[in-house]
Order: sequence, then C-alpha cells, then structure tokens
Amino acid sequence: GLARHYGVRLPGGLMGRRATLKAVDGIDFDLARGEILGLVGESGCGKSTTAKLVLGHVAPSAGEVRFDGAPVPVDHGGDWRRLRRRMQMIYQDPLGALDRRLPIAAQIAEPLQIHRPDLSRADRGARAAELMRAVGLRPDQAARYPHELSGGQRQRVVIARALALDPELLVCDEPVSALDVSVQAQVLNLLEDLRARTGFAALFISHDLKVVRQMADRVAVMYLGRIVEEGSPEEVLHRPLHPYTQALVSAAPSPHAGRRRARIVLRGDPPNPVEAPAGCSFHPRCPVAVARCRTERPPLLREGRRAVACHLAQAAGGGFAPAPLPSA
Ligand code: SF4
Ligand code: MG
Repeated sequence: GLARHYGVRLPGGLMGRRATLKAVDGIDFDLARGEILGLVGESGCGKSTTAKLVLGHVAPSAGEVRFDGAPVPVDHGGDWRRLRRRMQMIYQDPLGALDRRLPIAAQIAEPLQIHRPDLSRADRGARAAELMRAVGLRPDQAARYPHELSGGQRQRVVIARALALDPELLVCDEPVSALDVSVQAQVLNLLEDLRARTGFAALFISHDLKVVRQMADRVAVMYLGRIVEEGSPEEVLHRPLHPYTQALVSAAPSPHAGRRRARIVLRGDPPNPVEAPAGCSFHPRCPVAVARCRTERPPLLREGRRAVACHLAQAAGGGFAPAPLPSA
C-alpha cells in the first residue's frame, strides 16, 4: 500500500501573521508519495494559501502540516531550509519566477550551487544540461535569457530548476494558466512524463477542471477555505456530490458535444473568507439550501476515497448521494 507521507490538518483555521485571516479553515488532507492531488476552486478560495501552508511560508493558527512524518517548521531556519529543498514550487508566472539578468542554464544550476556544494562546477554543468534535455530545451538555448524565450519555454526552465534537487513534492500553483492552450498541453504532458520518471508527489492547484482531470490522481474541491468534496477525477467530475462542485462542473465546457448539461448558475460572488457565512458557508449561494444549512456546518465525511461536506449529499442511511439539484 501507499504510505501516507504528507498531511495537512488545520482544524482551527489559519491565522497567518501576514496572510489573510482564515483564508484556509479546517482543511485536512494527505498526500501519498508519488501522488498528485488536484486542488480546484474559484480564485480567492484559499488554494494559494494552502500552498503557502504546505511549504511553511505561513503558520497555521491550529493544527499542523507534516511532511514525511515531521511538522513543517515556519521559522525559515536550518531545518526549514533542509526540508524546503525537498519541496519545490512552480508558479503561474514563469517570468516573475526567473532572474532576468541570468542565462537560463545558470538559473537551472542555481539550486545545485546552493544546496550541493559537494558537486564540482563541471558536474553541476552536466546536471543542468541533463535537466534542460529532460524538459525539452535545446543545448544551444543554455546561454539565452528569460526574455529571449517563449512563455512555454520559460515554464520549462522553471520546471527544470524545480527538479534540480530531485524534490519529493512539487507544489504547482496554476502552472499553465498563463500559457496558450496549445502550450498548456505540452507543459502538462511534460509534467506527467517527469512524474512517471521521477516519482514526485504534487499538490496541483488550478481553477481549470480539465487541467486537474488530466493531472490528478485525486481531486479536492475547495470553497471559502474548506475542502467540500474529494474523490477520483472521474468520480468528482462525472458524479459530483456537492452542489458547489455540481455548479463548477456544469459551468465547464463539456468534452461530449451533444450531451449538454444544464448549467447551474450560482447567485452572487464568493463572500470574503474573513466573513464566511455561518453554518454551511456555501448556503447563501446554494440552490438547494435548507434551514439547517444556515446554522449547522456540515462536516467533511469520508468513505473510502470519497469525501463530501453537505447535509444533503450525506444520505441518512449512510453513503453519499449527489445533492438533489432542481433540474434547470
Ligand atoms: Fe447546500 Fe446545505 Fe449542502 Fe451547504 S449543506 S451545500 S447549503 S445543501
Ligand atoms: Mg491563487
């Protein structure tokens, strides 16, 4: 079986010293070695804050983030740095993540220079060349600067640099949303291929269900800082249980022409997480909310690989059933 290695348990919510209050509240998930967990939700739902928590960039006010059995420190001291090199981050904007004044091969070799003083200069160069090959960059591009490359090539540089130290965990925050659709597919295929070869686990954050479906072994849906549903990509996308997930799925373009789903339109914008509504925080926008939803927060219940936090999706006799939405 798969050993559970990475866990986040934050029963009391986040109180980051510099982050927004309560952007993540009561999330609880585990990530197995080599597994890709897709985290979906609208912007502002707490996905990026979750990434910062996992990486130890912000401290939870309660609960803890554990990596390979040990709590992730947030003090940015020696322990944190040692742990941090085993986790790497890929952001949405590759240009912002790169140094404009350095040729790309030097940037790919930079983590080796910092963390692998045991390697000779020649070994570092050879490793950088190998990483460039692995991400599909040509040797003659080594001396180029970031602005001389396309967006897709720049994201390849970021990926190569992230892989330089053989990380066990990649945190990818909207890694392809700044790229053209055709380039997105190339970068996603590259990440899949690299995962198969190197076995990293990933927290894969995206607002795009299609992207998450391609990449993830498991999907968690976030709303206002909480996980409201979890399951395999097939289960979550083909038989969404939670009304919020049902709305997300209905709004995404269907891959099956002719099998048009009724679109569920949610009222209003997501509220500010700091003033999350009482009870089920989705209740002001939920088309099927009942009285108890306004006062009673539904717990995230688990059954095997499936989890949902909705009073109506948790069938009385046990088991889960999709919340019965009115047909449009
Ligand atoms: Fe809607 Fe109530 Fe379910 Fe929340 S608990 S999603 S308000 S039905
Ligand atoms: Mg974000």
